[in-house]
Amino acid sequence: MFNRRFLQAAITAAILGAAVEASWQLARNLPVLREPAWLTAVADALVAWAITFALFWLYAALLRRSRLPRDAEAVPNAAAYAAVSAPLLWYAIYRAIPAARLSWVVALVVGASAAPFIGAALASILRRRNVANATAAAGALLLLVLTASALLEQTRPAEPGRANFLLITLDTTRADRLGCYGYPKARTANLDRLAAQGAKFDRALCLEPLTAPSHATMMTSLYPETTGVLLNAMRLRADVPTLAERFRDAGYATAAFVASCTVQARNTALDRGFDLYDDAVTPREGYHSSPLVPLAVAEKLSMLADDENRGERPADEVTDAAIRWLKQPRRRPFFIWLHYFDPHDDYLPPARYVQRGLAGRPLQKRINENWAEGKGGPKLPKRIAALYDGEIAFMDAEIGRFFAGLERARLASRTLVLVVGDHGEAFGEHGTKYHGFRLYGEEIRVPFIVCDLGGSLPALPEAPLQVTTLDVAPTILDLAGLPVPRNMRGRALFRNADPTPAYCICVPDPLRKNKDAVGRMDAFATPEEKLILHADGNAEYYDLAEDPEEKDDSARERPARVAELRAALEVVRAGVEPSPPPTREIDSDTMDKLRALGYIK
Ligand SMILES: [Zn+2]
Repeated sequence: MFNRRFLQAAITAAILGAAVEASWQLARNLPVLREPAWLTAVADALVAWAITFALFWLYAALLRRSRLPRDAEAVPNAAAYAAVSAPLLWYAIYRAIPAARLSWVVALVVGASAAPFIGAALASILRRRNVANATAAAGALLLLVLTASALLEQTRPAEPGRANFLLITLDTTRADRLGCYGYPKARTANLDRLAAQGAKFDRALCLEPLTAPSHATMMTSLYPETTGVLLNAMRLRADVPTLAERFRDAGYATAAFVASCTVQARNTALDRGFDLYDDAVTPREGYHSSPLVPLAVAEKLSMLADDENRGERPADEVTDAAIRWLKQPRRRPFFIWLHYFDPHDDYLPPARYVQRGLAGRPLQKRINENWAEGKGGPKLPKRIAALYDGEIAFMDAEIGRFFAGLERARLASRTLVLVVGDHGEAFGEHGTKYHGFRLYGEEIRVPFIVCDLGGSLPALPEAPLQVTTLDVAPTILDLAGLPVPRNMRGRALFRNADPTPAYCICVPDPLRKNKDAVGRMDAFATPEEKLILHADGNAEYYDLAEDPEEKDDSARERPARVAELRAALEVVRAGVEPSPPPTREIDSDTMDKLRALGYIK
């Protein structure tokens, strides 16, 4: 089987494959080494080559057994030809129609069926002389054609007109756990690079530290009390315009890929305005499971893998689904929302994102249980922090993979990105864990980054000192050149740097029977100070310049200032239009999932 020519041709195939990739990369733009997509493409090429080569080897062996071609020597020659041509054929189809999801299957089937016969025919025509040379010549010709077509495609003018917009929401991600916000232990290279290239807002706050209310505010630029989504599993009221609707009405393709039951369409109605709202958070709902695997089998496999009713999906599945969508042919610009949920508890990062000692899933689960129950030794806080950081690192890597996908689809230079967190996460700083219980910095400070991957973002006239999730929709609409609806309460940040205090609320969920859930709280925050008002009328006051960690409540010492801020808070609160009484109907499946996420006891 390992005929000399066969091996020669295999090596030729590898060299030719690398040459195709190199010419492609050189053709598309210099300097190529900067692009992570370059590495991905080479890896893809090598994998494609290995798969096709192995398949043809098998195929040739089967052919020889079946004695289909009469000329015995033609078989290895045919296989050699196939080994050279198949990866190139794969590339030809893949590069010509990047949207063709089945291109590699088609290439394999067509190539596998035809190539040995073509090879045999070639050998016969050449009367078995100089077959290796003929094969190399055929390969070289193919290479020439492919390079020419790649160059032609490259010189084709890019689609003129409007930019694409990408909103990435990072669930449960504290700003101070990213490298670009000064965390020395961070492994967040992709978000850090985005912050370095674009605009990073140092002080960004969410208005309510809970997933559904926070996202409803981002999508509408309205206060939680106006959206009608005050808690998880509440539906956005029908009469307020959404960011996605604005984009859809302006002729954009709109799609969302979300990762948790707390933002599923049936629970929140956040799908309004999206052509595609991919909120499949369990394998049996099947968008991301292979069409070749029966749903019943997929479900069994997932049950074996994890016995809980999964209410979330990991970052790699979100990125996979979004990249598949990117590859579909479309003429219109797009608005996409990607929601990554991994940093949410339980903190169970994949093994490669934590040190070896914390990689085991049973151990990770035990650490999470101990953390939830307040048990465990002095090492526990460190271990929990390491797991949380691991989830953020995993999410960051998957965001990077999505950017590589954008690059490969040649969309990166025409895409603007806004990254924002929906809320933070407490680790006992003020006696509570998780989120949705208090209005201290650990729960409401989030990352907020805007970056034009094409590099033409207008400079900030004067960076606002403090921004909130209210500013997400107006900022994106303004950058897209679309009108900002008058009822939106936030600012277009690249136009308006006026200092605006943040008015935040925390509403305890009656279904969440947690001892940390006390009564409603309201907060009024400027970059310099914060007032937290409790339902019983008590207030806390923090001078953030002196006490950025909010450890020293000085309400008693500053009664006059407290009274002023309380009055200011009342003015803002009076200006918040209340929603009609919101409805909350939760089906049993959602109840199970919310329970699995710890939102229901
Ligand atoms: Zn959340």
